[in-house]
Amino acid sequence: MTAELGHFINGEHVNGQSGRLHDIFNPTTGEVQAKVALAAPAEVAHAVAAAENAFPVWAAMNPQRRARVLFKFKELVEKDMENLAKMLSSEHGKILPDARGDVQRGLEVVEFACGIPHLQKGEYTEAAGPGIDVYSMRQPLGVVAGITPFNFPAMIPMWMFSVAIACGNTFINKPSEKDPSVPLRLAELMMEAGAPEGVLNVVNGDKEAVDAIIEDPRVKAISFVGSSDIAQYIYANGTKHNKRVQAFGGAKNHMIILPDADMENAVNQLIGSAYGSAGERCMATPVAVPVGEGTADALVSILKPKVEALRIGPSLSEDSDLGPLVTAAHRDRVKAYIRMAADEGQELVVDGREFSLQGYENGFFMGGTLLDHARPGHQSYHDEIFGPVLQIVRAENFEEAIALPSNHQYGNGVAIFTRNGAAAREFAQKVNVGMVGVNVPIPVPVAYHTFGGWKRSGFGDTNQHGPEGVRFWTKIKTITQRWPEDVQGSEFVIPTME
Ligand code: NAD
Repeated sequence: MTAELGHFINGEHVNGQSGRLHDIFNPTTGEVQAKVALAAPAEVAHAVAAAENAFPVWAAMNPQRRARVLFKFKELVEKDMENLAKMLSSEHGKILPDARGDVQRGLEVVEFACGIPHLQKGEYTEAAGPGIDVYSMRQPLGVVAGITPFNFPAMIPMWMFSVAIACGNTFINKPSEKDPSVPLRLAELMMEAGAPEGVLNVVNGDKEAVDAIIEDPRVKAISFVGSSDIAQYIYANGTKHNKRVQAFGGAKNHMIILPDADMENAVNQLIGSAYGSAGERCMATPVAVPVGEGTADALVSILKPKVEALRIGPSLSEDSDLGPLVTAAHRDRVKAYIRMAADEGQELVVDGREFSLQGYENGFFMGGTLLDHARPGHQSYHDEIFGPVLQIVRAENFEEAIALPSNHQYGNGVAIFTRNGAAAREFAQKVNVGMVGVNVPIPVPVAYHTFGGWKRSGFGDTNQHGPEGVRFWTKIKTITQRWPEDVQGSEFVIPTME
């Protein structure tokens, strides 16, 4: 019988009540390996009540004790790494070493959040006025929620809940219905680490559950990561319901290659960032921008045999470069984009559409695809494809290379490969994109810096993790105090520092 996954509420697994279920595939075999319950609004309300109940005690716990729970959680996740990575790989389709990386990048934010006693400290000004001192404190918001995508089922929930609960909030994660097992397991481990019941809950579901979270006045903030149209919807509706919202969307990241770049190195970096995880990363590099015809021709000639030689295999294999895509529907959508690109006049240098893996003919595989001569105006360049597809846009000069990513609808990440420090510096200053790599293909900032894209890649003002994360998950209170020894006279004029 197919396993049926429910929710994790108030410290325990609970079965779904709505009667609505969603298939969880094994992308390598194409089989349905489990089903997940899709919550009705009443089940969301149950989770919110549990989180609300847990909040006062958790928020009042001193930050060092909250940090100890996170230290323990980190230890438990490390011990469970192989189990988590296999679970993740067999639902998502990314290869096992990459699945370990997904868990590890999340753990790095947990490590950051372990510093919460220092991070949440307020500021203090002595003698701001006669006998007056001013100080500030950062207090948790209450019940908060994270709505997460399929493509990083370990890292992105950990980005959100480790900082949120370190700050004293209680949390509801609504993971992707495509791969919910890892978020459920992380909630179990958080309980085992000593978090009180209700501090971290997982509610599975789709739009119905998301809308119930948005509309519940007890939920004070929402962090969302997913595609841009949904991100915009969550931002608009969440803020309409008076919530604090950060909503991160899709991407189309460019890698600029200047004529002076070390081409061999640039290509090695590009191939990993374009095709790793079958291109299903918001910080993948689906667009290469060689500057000058000579650079472009050299790039294509070095790339072509490498794309043809990509090792595509079952997700649990240790020696493949990439595995299958997440669902058949998504793979077919990616293939439709390749057809569109060809119709738009792009040259199909390598066509991965016919690829099939022997022994796994029902798996959601496709081969790496390389398209040359893409340009602005092409729909397939404008949209996020989110598959193992690399498009080359040839730029005539440096100015055009800055303009391409700057004018694109998305502004998540961008990279420049060059040996020229001045050009790299000018590029980093001028480009209209949130995260920039210089000779680094996937510039995902480390946990103690902050992650966030611009334009249609990010709605809201505050980024994920790092000090910005602490600001997002807390509200600031400022106290102005005076302890007068004598009775004071009345003041009818606003006090100033004159
Ligand atoms: P998605 O937008 O389909 O789903 C994200 C979440 O929203 C899931 O939990 C899903 O259940 C929920 N959802 C889906 N449809 C909804 C609706 N109509 N109303 C309310 N909620 C809904 O995204 P996905 O396919 O899971 O993830 C891939 C996308 O996420 C890509 O666009 C990728 O670029 C993006 N992404 C962005 C970042 C970033 O930091 N900017 C990181 C990872 C992924």
